[in-house]
Amino acid sequence: MKTAMIHCHMHGRSEDVIIYEDQYITHVGHESDLHDEIESSDEIIDVKGMYVSPGFVDSHMHLLELGFYLSNVQLDGCTSVASLQEACRNGLSSVEEGDWLLGRGYNEDRFTDGGKPDKKALDEISTTVPIAVTRACGHVMTVNSKVLEIAGISEDFEMEGGRVIFATGRVEENAINLIHGLQKEADVPKLQSYILKGQEYVNACGITTVGSDDFISVTHDYRGPLDAFEKLSYQGKLTVRVNEQCEFADDQAFASFLDDGYTFDVGNDFFRIGPLKLILDGSLGARTAAMNHSYCDDSSTRGTMCMEKEDMERDVMLANRFNMPTIAHCIGDRAADEWLEVLERNICPGNPLHHGIVHCQILRPDQIRKIIDLNLSCYYQSIFVDYDASVVEQRVGHELAESSYPFHTLYEGTLCSNGSDAPVEMPDVMKGIECAVTRQSLSFPQKKMNPKECLSVEEAIATYTVNGAKQLFMDDRIGLIKEGYYADLAVLDQDPYETDPKQIHNIQVMMTVSDGRLVYTR
Ligand SMILES: [Zn+2]
Repeated sequence: MKTAMIHCHMHGRSEDVIIYEDQYITHVGHESDLHDEIESSDEIIDVKGMYVSPGFVDSHMHLLELGFYLSNVQLDGCTSVASLQEACRNGLSSVEEGDWLLGRGYNEDRFTDGGKPDKKALDEISTTVPIAVTRACGHVMTVNSKVLEIAGISEDFEMEGGRVIFATGRVEENAINLIHGLQKEADVPKLQSYILKGQEYVNACGITTVGSDDFISVTHDYRGPLDAFEKLSYQGKLTVRVNEQCEFADDQAFASFLDDGYTFDVGNDFFRIGPLKLILDGSLGARTAAMNHSYCDDSSTRGTMCMEKEDMERDVMLANRFNMPTIAHCIGDRAADEWLEVLERNICPGNPLHHGIVHCQILRPDQIRKIIDLNLSCYYQSIFVDYDASVVEQRVGHELAESSYPFHTLYEGTLCSNGSDAPVEMPDVMKGIECAVTRQSLSFPQKKMNPKECLSVEEAIATYTVNGAKQLFMDDRIGLIKEGYYADLAVLDQDPYETDPKQIHNIQVMMTVSDGRLVYTR
């Protein structure tokens, strides 16, 4: 199958035709030179002067969990406890016998009643159906009495890196996995349906490649998601290239994964094993990100470390033996200190394996310098500016806020990619580009972050295309519109370089091509 995409507009280029045959781009040139190629094409797509970009790379998200989120009660629009209750009540009718009512996406900082969900509010919905609602960040959950009863919890409960508060039903960090473990494990067909749902959503955002962390986001055991992804890829059903960021419930699971012959780069260009993923701390929003000093707006806490340094070190050493890079979720400066110490001792000069740091949020200048000196791969989410700009200063103080989310300094100094952490934020690439360029919140327009760290439009697009490809070691086949590369393309209704930066979020994705297949049209 040969396709000619004509009347293309590409940034800084005069070529206006892209020809692709099956999955590969065969020609990029001028209409006047490519007459025969266009004539002999099976299909001509006239994009009428619209902007054509390489398909976007979202370098860190949870594709399976995004699909799961889209299949459950969505709470991101809730503005009060009452509206959260109403959304849950509406969802109650579709809960089957023996299942739980699950919701995700609320953020009490967006509530106008000053409240937050607790056990009592959820018990008012039902005391017979187990109910669990998860905050947008994924690091805090609230459950009803029924869940606590199933869990056998009748007083405050603490475990390594997590806890449950009995009176309010609040569940934090590692204890969330414990609660997830009580639910019926989704089977492979169910997991596949979630993946396909997530995939459809990301394709509509112009995304054709993701770094995705899925092994224990919905299930307890990594084998279900692994099986689901492998089957979909063999069946040719994936339309987004998935690089799995492998997170495990414990060391034994990681060891048996390696025993089975899995390691970095095993797979194909639609489902491929990526780095080992560790979670070191919580989130800024929930004040569970691990800080060196207590929170400015809550002196009783300085967040939670979810892992001991010795355990991090052991995991990195094991991964190293299998040539597997390790990336770690680090939000607070204490988590970053510990992670930098571990990496400094355990990586080769120049960091050829692309070990990295996911989120890169609260950082001091000396930590930023060390990240650059070690040449660490940075996976940031500029879209977090939208909400975090409204809380960062009150959480960590002015001085630390100024050096945090250092998009530009990191961009200049080391390899940086961009993503959404979906379903924490929805994977809206245009919104992400705008937040990188303006560092101004869309939801709280008066809230801004240090403008010295703005990216240019060109740099922001690079973080979503070629840099993501480099980080994944795929820059010889994705991230550019070039002969011999995969035909992964996103067609936009406006040129982001010609758009007022504060209007970039209004740019629409009109068409997405993945592997030479048209997978989305608006
Ligand atoms: Zn994540």
